[in-house]
Amino acid sequence: AEEMMIRSEKMSIAGQLAAGIAHEIRNPLTSIKGFLQLLQAGVNRKEEYYKIMIDEIEKMETITSELLFVSKPMTDNKRVERVDDMIHDVIALLNPQARLKNIDIEWKQKVYPSIYCDRSQIKQVFINLLKNATEAMDEGGKIELKVHQNAAQVIIDFIDEGPGIPEEIIHKLGEPFFTTKQNGTGLGLMITNQILEKHEAKLEIIKNEIKGSTFRIRVKEHTE
Ligand code: ADP
Ligand code: MG
Repeated sequence: AEEMMIRSEKMSIAGQLAAGIAHEIRNPLTSIKGFLQLLQAGVNRKEEYYKIMIDEIEKMETITSELLFVSKPMTDNKRVERVDDMIHDVIALLNPQARLKNIDIEWKQKVYPSIYCDRSQIKQVFINLLKNATEAMDEGGKIELKVHQNAAQVIIDFIDEGPGIPEEIIHKLGEPFFTTKQNGTGLGLMITNQILEKHEAKLEIIKNEIKGSTFRIRVKEHTE
């Protein structure tokens, strides 16, 4: 399988982030202003305009709450946590959404390694990857989670049956605001990288033999 490493240096480019934020916030603002001016002029398609404005505001809400996460002072709250325990929580959280799309989240192989980590941050990583996998699959299917151990390393695979990632965009993944989705923020993988970096962990993207992609986390096992 072909492997790509997400380079993490590009995500800390503050300028790129600032430009992106300005862009992502200015567009909805311009649109809201326009509709308010129409309403002020006394048009009669009020309901439609209110809806558009609410959508635009929701977009900004999503972006700002994800950005707050990025800018949070990195006061980690690291403890020894069991990987299976965190995976269990995240599957419970995202299973309803997956079921709605006819997607089975499969997690068979149970091993019980622990890692030294900030639980809520690592859960955020799992959520981001599992959400992306779900969003990549329109026709239903299976997302497989696999945890294995190799020497002192824990390997966590998120294997989807989506369309895979076109070669020409793979280097852009993890860049702030890079998204191919209608309602994407393009912040998920950037945040993921940032968290993993603080845990001295790595993210790899693997092209599956038959269909879809595998996002693989490699992190050091905690041993007594
Ligand atoms: P968002 O999900 O908001 O688009 P992300 O940073 O999470 O932002 O992902 C960036 C882009 O990476 C996505 O828009 C998509 O094009 C691509 N991507 C991420 N995960 C997958 C996946 N499992 N399968 C296919 N494409 C993916
Ligand atoms: Mg995402």
